Amino acid sequence: MIEYLAKKNYKRLASLIHKSPKGISIPPQPYQWYLEQLQSIENVRFCNYAHYEYLKGNKYRFQIKSEDLLGFRNVFIRHDVDHGPKSALKMAKIEAEMDITANYYFLTTDSVYATRYWKSKRDSFLKQMLEIQEMGHEVGLHYDFMGDYFSKGIPPYENVKHLVHEFREAGIKLSGCVSHGSSATRWLLKGKQKANFPKEFINYNIWNETSKFASKLKLNKKTLNTPVFSLESFGLKYEAYHVSRDLYSSDTGGVFWRIADPIDQAKALKDGQILTILTHPAWWKGHLKG
Ligand SMILES: [Zn+2]
Repeated sequence: MIEYLAKKNYKRLASLIHKSPKGISIPPQPYQWYLEQLQSIENVRFCNYAHYEYLKGNKYRFQIKSEDLLGFRNVFIRHDVDHGPKSALKMAKIEAEMDITANYYFLTTDSVYATRYWKSKRDSFLKQMLEIQEMGHEVGLHYDFMGDYFSKGIPPYENVKHLVHEFREAGIKLSGCVSHGSSATRWLLKGKQKANFPKEFINYNIWNETSKFASKLKLNKKTLNTPVFSLESFGLKYEAYHVSRDLYSSDTGGVFWRIADPIDQAKALKDGQILTILTHPAWWKGHLKG
């Protein structure tokens, strides 16, 4: 039903993605060390996005009610699983053994890996996603609907409908999603946009709830008017980039850490505040004991 990446583009895209990003480093400590440190901080609670009801906020579109947060330092561990679930599965096991719950978002159709991801690997991915869910973690969708459209011509509506259905059919209790920094879109824009990745091409502009402006996007001889549809119409409660938070720490681009060290951040949390820690399991390969 969905046509995937044209073969002629595959090699060029693959060579781009496999290049090490600038500034890549290795985690200063094994993953378990961070979890142990977090657990030792008084009143830390590990949270799942699905457990909350969201109000419409000003700064963040999805605002958690303060009464649902008070009494704790609330830590949301978010894993964006970009490049295969092996390290994610290992992380999930480590967390479960320590009684820690986290949030995993799976990418299915990244430009370079489209065929591999959601055709031949589809069944094993779903199996591992279910396994992670059964450990008590939340599983959601990490999406690249714009990249899929501009690089491969997959209409966003068809794409989201297909993936949401596939996840749910497999038994995933899907309640949210988070935008992927699209390598496909970045590659197509290269040469046209020398400056930073234009904001209007960020994937979350596809949703009514999280798009900040209406745009007519043109790229690769294709046009897309955004926003396109609502999260609500697919039974999705939230977009994790737009969920309220007070502090943030991430390993984006293999930089440890962006914004600040997560342990310092967790210690700085006041009662009822939220810290989001974003990791990409691929960076942690070799830094997961056991
Ligand atoms: Zn991503």
